[in-house]
Amino acid sequence: MPTNRQVLLDNRPEGEAVASNFKVVSVDTPALTEGQVLVRHHYLSLDPYMRGRMNESKSYAASQPLGEVMIGGTVGEVVESQHPKYQVGDQVVGMGGWQEYSVVNANEPGALRKADTTHVPLSYYLGAVGMPGVTAWYGLVKIIEPKEGETMVVSAATGAVGSAFAALAKARGCRVVGIAGGPEKCAYAVAELGYDACIDYREHKDMYSLSKALKEACPKGIDGYFENVGGMIMDAVMLRMNAFARVALCGMIAGYNGEPLAMANPALLLINRVKLEGFIVSEHMEVWGEAMKELGTLVAMGKLKPRETVSQGIESAPEAFLGLLKGKNFGKQLVKLI
Ligand code: NDP
Repeated sequence: MPTNRQVLLDNRPEGEAVASNFKVVSVDTPALTEGQVLVRHHYLSLDPYMRGRMNESKSYAASQPLGEVMIGGTVGEVVESQHPKYQVGDQVVGMGGWQEYSVVNANEPGALRKADTTHVPLSYYLGAVGMPGVTAWYGLVKIIEPKEGETMVVSAATGAVGSAFAALAKARGCRVVGIAGGPEKCAYAVAELGYDACIDYREHKDMYSLSKALKEACPKGIDGYFENVGGMIMDAVMLRMNAFARVALCGMIAGYNGEPLAMANPALLLINRVKLEGFIVSEHMEVWGEAMKELGTLVAMGKLKPRETVSQGIESAPEAFLGLLKGKNFGKQLVKLI
């Protein structure tokens, strides 16, 4: 059986997460029992939600136990099978964690899905045609409910979720404006992701300055906002909301290290009769099929061209993850394991 290198959560962060919170170990993969398959991971997905799991405090999901393999989505190929539905060579998507191999009980519902790579590259099942893409779809379609001609804004615009959001909102005839960190990300957002405009929030010191830039980019105001960041960015958007605007509260990454994220003007929610709804994509498995179909089609048609930042080798995962929390990733952050 092959040796498996794993990344464990060794200790919990105090404030900002650091590389020493993790530990890399090597173990032997165990022999399979009936119903199990051995998957060799090709890619590991790194996602902001993992930061929350590193804390002990109670959240919508259980915290990551110390001394265990970090949780994470993976794509790979079956290299051994004791399950009739899976053959050696099958390409699969699962939650294999931060390790090179996983032993999966394939009888467990949802533990593994086969991936069709005819039109969609395998790694995209961790991004645009996977959990982040479905997240964008749910927030846009089920919470914002966009109408043709409306103006949509999304923060962390060039990331895994943001880039899918842009393609989905453009497909519905909306004006789509992104907010991202740095001129390179903003230029790419307009040139490659189909944004009508993109604002570099780092150029703006406060919410009034950012709000002024939003006024220029959104001359008819903002009807739908997909929030990934929180803090000053959200405050600036709130100043430009139209009456009856809708906000899909997806993430607040600016506060994931425990910083309090105050809201400057909550009265604007009332004044503009704003609908604001938080959501967790894993609680909406019912939309998965419909969302994946649309996302896969957009990729196949070249209307969703997501970018990936790929680090090499399992031992690179901690640094790549810490970079994601600081915006060093450009598009979907992955770790290549083969
Ligand atoms: P991204 O690929 O967008 O990567 C994270 C990005 O967040 C960075 O590239 C950076 O972009 C931005 N960022 C990081 N730190 C800060 C900061 N302090 N201030 C402003 N921006 C920051 O990640 P995803 O697309 O995977 O996730 C986007 C959001 O969606 C996250 O908040 C995540 O938690 C949330 N999410 C929620 C889900 C749900 O079910 N509710 C499911 C999946 C994701 P930039 O350089 O442009 O600032």
